[in-house]
Amino acid sequence: MKLYAPTYYPNFTCIADKCLHSCCIGWEIDVDDDTMQVYDTITEPYGQAIKDSIDREDTPHFRLCADERCPHLDASGLCKIITNLGEGYLCHICREHPRFYNDTNYGKEVGLGMACEEACRLILSNGNYGDMVEIGEIDGEVDLIDFDPLPHREQIYSILSDHSLPYAERLRIIADTHGVSPSDKTDDEWRDLLGSLEYLDEAHRALFSSYASALSSPEGLEIYLERALAYFIYRHGTAAWDEDGFRAAVGFALFCERLIASVANAEGVNDLAGLIEVARMVSEELEYSEENTETLKSEVIS
Ligand code: SF4
Repeated sequence: MKLYAPTYYPNFTCIADKCLHSCCIGWEIDVDDDTMQVYDTITEPYGQAIKDSIDREDTPHFRLCADERCPHLDASGLCKIITNLGEGYLCHICREHPRFYNDTNYGKEVGLGMACEEACRLILSNGNYGDMVEIGEIDGEVDLIDFDPLPHREQIYSILSDHSLPYAERLRIIADTHGVSPSDKTDDEWRDLLGSLEYLDEAHRALFSSYASALSSPEGLEIYLERALAYFIYRHGTAAWDEDGFRAAVGFALFCERLIASVANAEGVNDLAGLIEVARMVSEELEYSEENTETLKSEVIS
C-alpha cells in the first residue's frame, strides 16, 4: 500500500553525535525476535560485544551502562553497531525511531515523533503541516475502517491555519467543535494529575506544575505552538478508531499545547530554540509513556 508523510519528513536525518538528548541515553531498548536471530548467529568481530550486551531476561534488551547510556554508544555519540557493522544490523526500534505509523483508509501515514530534538526542530520550523507527500510503498493492505478521521483532521487544520483569527480564538473554535477543552478541569486538577504521572526526568514534574489552561501564549511563539498542536493532531487524531477516540485525541492535543505554552511562559522562553526544548520535553514525558498518554486522554473527556 502507499505510504504518505508530511512534506518535511524526507528532510529528517538523525544528527547522532550532535544530539543533546540522544535517544540512546536513558531508554531501555528491546531487541525484536528477528534481530535476536541475527545477533545469535553473528560471526563478525563486534558480534560478541553485541551478544554480551543483551539481557535475555523477559524481553531481550540492551543492558544500559551505569550512566544510563546504551552500551553501543561511543564517547563521541556514535553507534558502534553502525560504525562496526552498518545500519543493517540495528534492531527494529533503533532502525525506526523516531518514526510512527498510522493506518488510514487511503494507505499508511508515517510521522516523526517530537521527542527527538531534530524531528521537533523540523516539525516546529515547518508551516505546511497539512501538506502530505507520497513517499513510496509499504507492505500490507488497506483495511477499511468505519470512522475516517482525515476529514476531521482537515477541518481542524483549516481552523488552525486561519491567521485572520487570533490564535486563542482558533483554539476555542477547535475545542468547541469537538466538545472538549482543557478548561473543562481547573488548573489545580490538571496540576494534581500531572504531579501523579510517571516521569523519565523527575525535574520535569516540578516544571510541569506551572500548568495553566487560560494563560496567554508566549509573545511571538504562537506560530510554533500552532505547529505543535497540528503535530499532536496528526499523530493522535489519525490513530483514532471512532469519534470518542478522536475527541480524546483532540483534548490531549489541546492539553499538550497548553502545557508547552505554560512551561515556556514560566521559563521565560522567547525563541524557537527554547520552544523546541520545551516541546521535546512534553512529548518525551507525555507521549512516550503509553500510561501517561492514556491517563490524559481519558481524563480530558471525563
Ligand atoms: S533523538 Fe533523534 S537526533 Fe537524537 S540520536 Fe535519537 S534519532 Fe538521532
